[in-house]
Amino acid sequence: MKDMFVIKFGGSSITKKADNKFEMNEEILSQSASELAGAIKKNKKLKIALVCGVGPYGHTNVKMYDINNGIKTDEQRKGVKKTNDDCSFVGKTVAESLEKNGVATRYIPGYQVCEQKNKKVESFDFKPYEKAIEEGFVPITTGIMVKDSELEWSVMSGDKVIAQLARHFRPEKVLMGTDVDGIYTADPKVDSKAILIEEINRKTVPKILEMVGESKSVDVTGGMKGKLEQLAEQLDGTPAEIFNLFKKGNLEKVLVGKEIKDTKINL
Ligand code: ADP
Repeated sequence: MKDMFVIKFGGSSITKKADNKFEMNEEILSQSASELAGAIKKNKKLKIALVCGVGPYGHTNVKMYDINNGIKTDEQRKGVKKTNDDCSFVGKTVAESLEKNGVATRYIPGYQVCEQKNKKVESFDFKPYEKAIEEGFVPITTGIMVKDSELEWSVMSGDKVIAQLARHFRPEKVLMGTDVDGIYTADPKVDSKAILIEEINRKTVPKILEMVGESKSVDVTGGMKGKLEQLAEQLDGTPAEIFNLFKKGNLEKVLVGKEIKDTKINL
């Protein structure tokens, strides 16, 4: 779809994922919301679907209640409810932040649109997204727990939602905001010699997948490796960029097609 961008606000950017705190990173969230609003004001034709990572609100809860390998007890069911309330809190907080900047939003809880079987997406209803976009809203979905026909509930990561929306809408570009400049030869938070990989294509992706690690923070969905795996499976020609949301101006620039230092993916 022309003029459409599927955007991810990574949990590492909009929450205190690195400190494993149940707290939003208000500074990065309001910076990102204001840049997204700025881009929408400049280009009235822009259509956005926004996906939010949830950091500890998802990952830490899921680990704490042990709820990603089948639900058997009422304690786990309580854990699912708490996790989903917390993930929805992130979605609604992001929505509020955008509304403050004049952007109309619609929160779409992932468990209303997606069902899984043994952690794999079985069905995904795109209609609520189509309707929201048509009516001039920015739909917002977070990583969250969804019904699973074998496990009762399982995790649907924000990265999975991105992949689904990308495949369905074939947007102009997929933009993945995170807390590092892109994909490096090693985890840049661990290895100071890590070098940014500026371009990934079909030929180089298998080798890069071997190099890339998981998240340094508590992350039950595979961190940077999980992200690239999801994209590799679903992009099918749609270009993507993984970029740093901490760097002021980055989001607005990528949205208007300006060059920034990041990882560009063409698969
Ligand atoms: P988000 O929550 O923003 O979606 P993740 O925590 O899932 O992001 O993934 C980003 C993290 O992945 C970075 O903070 C980084 O520490 C880690 N990481 C591991 N290996 C790499 C790599 N090769 N290149 C970039 N980041 C990596």
